[in-house]
Amino acid sequence: MIKFADEAIIEVCSGKGGNGCIAFRREKYVPHGGPAGGDGGRGGDVIFVVKRNLRTLAHLRYKQKFKARNGGDGEGRNRFGKDGEDVIIPLPPGSIIRDAETGTLIREFTTESEDERFVFLEGGKGGWGNVHFKTSTNQAPQYAHEGKPGESRMLSVELNIMADVGLVGFPNAGKSSLLDFFTNARPKIAPYPFTTKIPNLGVLHVDSERDIIIADIPGIIEGASDGAGLGFKFLKHISRTAGLVFIIDCSDDECFGAFEKLKLELESYSKELASKPRIVLCNKLDVEGAGERFKEIKKQLKDETVFGMSVFERTGMNDVRKAIIALVDAVELQDDRQKTAAKPQKSAFMAERSVCDAMEVQYPGQE
Ligand code: GDP
Ligand code: MG
Repeated sequence: MIKFADEAIIEVCSGKGGNGCIAFRREKYVPHGGPAGGDGGRGGDVIFVVKRNLRTLAHLRYKQKFKARNGGDGEGRNRFGKDGEDVIIPLPPGSIIRDAETGTLIREFTTESEDERFVFLEGGKGGWGNVHFKTSTNQAPQYAHEGKPGESRMLSVELNIMADVGLVGFPNAGKSSLLDFFTNARPKIAPYPFTTKIPNLGVLHVDSERDIIIADIPGIIEGASDGAGLGFKFLKHISRTAGLVFIIDCSDDECFGAFEKLKLELESYSKELASKPRIVLCNKLDVEGAGERFKEIKKQLKDETVFGMSVFERTGMNDVRKAIIALVDAVELQDDRQKTAAKPQKSAFMAERSVCDAMEVQYPGQE
C-alpha cells in the first residue's frame, strides 16, 4: 500500500512573561513619591496558522524549534514591558498535531481549512510592578511579581499528502522518471521530501513557500487487467488534484491511440477524475522517429495542450514545469474567484490570464 504521509517532530515554546518592576517616583518637590514600577509584558504565544499554499511539512524539517519571544520587564515611571512577539507556525490544510511523547491528539485541521488560527500555548503573563501593591499600611512596597514562565512542548505533526496533479500513462511511458526528475531537481538541503522515499510521489518545488505534489496514479492501467483498480484510499489522496498529466511514450510506434485509450480507462474508474483539466506530454523524443510521432499526435490532438520532452536528455522540461504550475494555478485562481465572486479582483484575473496565455492553457470561462 502506498503510504502518503509526511511527518515532522518539532519543539514549540511560548515566551516567558516579563518581570514586574520595583521603582518609586523621584521628582523634585515630591519627597516620598509612591511606587512606580510597571508591569512586565506578556510572553509571546505559539500559534499555528493554516496556509493553503503549503503542501508538505518540509518547512518544519528545515527548522525544528519554534520559540516565541519573552515579554520585556516592567520599568520605572509606570512603564509596561513590551509584549513578546508570538511565534507563528504555518501548516498545510489537513495537518494533524499530536503530543510527541504521549501521542495524544491535540488538533486536526480539515483539508478545507484556510487561514485558520490556533493558539496552542499562551505566553506567560507579565508580573505586576510594585505600583499594584500599595496599601494604606504599606505606602512603599518593596516587591513585585515575577513574570510567569512560558511552556515548552514536543509535538509531532502529520499530514496526509494530497496530490495536486495526477500522472496518467501506460507502463514504461516515463511516469516514474518524470517524478524523479522533479524530486531530484530540488536543492539538497535536508533529507527531503519524505523521510522514506515514496515511489509514487514527486515534488515540484515552485518557491520557498510552495510545492506542487505530483502523484503517479497506479492501477488505472496496470491494475485494469486483474480488476485491481484504484483503492478508495488512493482516490481520496488524489480527489483534490487540480489536473492530470498524460504521458505518452513516443518511442513506441503504436503510441497514436494511447491518449484515447488512457482517457477511456480513466473514465471507467472515475468520471470526475477524468474531467479534470489536463496536459499531454509526449516523452522520449531523444529516440529516433519519436519527433515525427510527436508532431503527428500534436496534430491529432488539436484541442489538447501537448508538449514534447525527453526526460533522459532533459529537453523541454522547463516548459513542462511551467505548464504543470499553470495547471494548478488556473484551478486555484478559479477557487479564489468563486470566493470573491461579489468583488472580482482585477489583479488575480490578469495574473490568471497571463499565466494561461503564456502556457496556452484555457482559462476558466473561455470557450
Ligand atoms: P513508468 O512505467 O511510466 O513509470 O516509466 P519509467 O519512468 O519507469 O520509464 C520506463 C523506461 O523508459 C525506463 O527504462 C526509463 O529509463 C525509460 N525512459 C524514461 N524517460 C525516457 C526518455 O526521455 N527517453 C528514453 N529514451 N527513455 C526514457
Ligand atoms: Mg513507474
